[in-house]
Amino acid sequence: MSLADTYNRQISYLRLSVTDRCNLRCRYCVPQGQMTRLPGLPLLSFDNLFRVAQQSAKLGIRKIRITGGEPLVRPGIVSFLERMNGISGIGEVVLTTNGILLAKMADSLRQVGVKRLNISLDSLKPESFAEITGGGNLRRVLAGIDAAERSGFPTPQINVVVMRGVNDNEILDFAGIATGRGLTVRFIEYMPTNGDSNWDSLYINSGEILMRLASRYRLTPLPRIEGAGPARYFQLDASQATVGVISPVSRHFCAGCNRIRISSDGMARGCLFSREATDLRPHLLQGDDALQQILTTIIREKPLRHNLSEGLQSSGFVSMSAIGG
Ligand code: SAM
Repeated sequence: MSLADTYNRQISYLRLSVTDRCNLRCRYCVPQGQMTRLPGLPLLSFDNLFRVAQQSAKLGIRKIRITGGEPLVRPGIVSFLERMNGISGIGEVVLTTNGILLAKMADSLRQVGVKRLNISLDSLKPESFAEITGGGNLRRVLAGIDAAERSGFPTPQINVVVMRGVNDNEILDFAGIATGRGLTVRFIEYMPTNGDSNWDSLYINSGEILMRLASRYRLTPLPRIEGAGPARYFQLDASQATVGVISPVSRHFCAGCNRIRISSDGMARGCLFSREATDLRPHLLQGDDALQQILTTIIREKPLRHNLSEGLQSSGFVSMSAIGG
């Protein structure tokens, strides 16, 4: 079975946030000025997250990305991922992490069947990394990437949110680790999601990112892989190295969007930037049929597109750490 929304997009991808807690405070992610823990939202239990995933699979969800907050800080996450991998119909369970806890968890994640990892890494310089992440330790992330490779994960994808005057001077260094280490590096446009009044001056569009890369490398566009997400990929020179750009602001990819999102407190959204979200908790008190019904409604009513390019005011304020990036 596969379910389409009103615009005939087949919805097969669920981004499931398991916590709004994080062990970093990335400046582009947490609400501005909020350098302490987010207010505690009641998290869905693992049993309820599992039920949501199971019923989504019956509606045609084939890929689940576990995100947060930082998913690896939630106690019990490894056994939860093992259960998720047993859901009939789910082809892959993948994870987005900041990598801080990865060195000690990579083996167990691999053993319970997590297919792939996306690792966020916004600077290769210890001081700048600490500044962007509110005190994070770069060495731990690099050790996490090494551990992921040793554990047998396919080459992790590195996600870099590019900000002018903050880390844009490292675009070529990141390309260097793509060629040097064979990592896939994806440059993400900074989205105005955290109430940053300075957003305009920090934002760099993917066209400019590609021009900076082209100043050193010959970029060969790679064919789009169906279902592989919104990134556009390029081969660097004649190497096996790949870089990608993700352009949620300058070239919205809503027409091909196949995802829905559920935050760790059970709010379901057809779009990251939806003002409206559906609270799944009352439906979780009922049987599986009721849960399936509300998930069907959320899929069918997925908005046509987001309104980010019309500016911060109209898109409103969303916190990626709370909704689940
Ligand atoms: N803690 C995990 C991590 O750091 O990857 C998962 C959660 S994080 C919210 C997921 C992704 O959202 C990261 O790749 C992060 O870079 C991205 N993200 C968060 N805020 C963003 C923003 N304002 N613009 C672009 N990407 C953002």
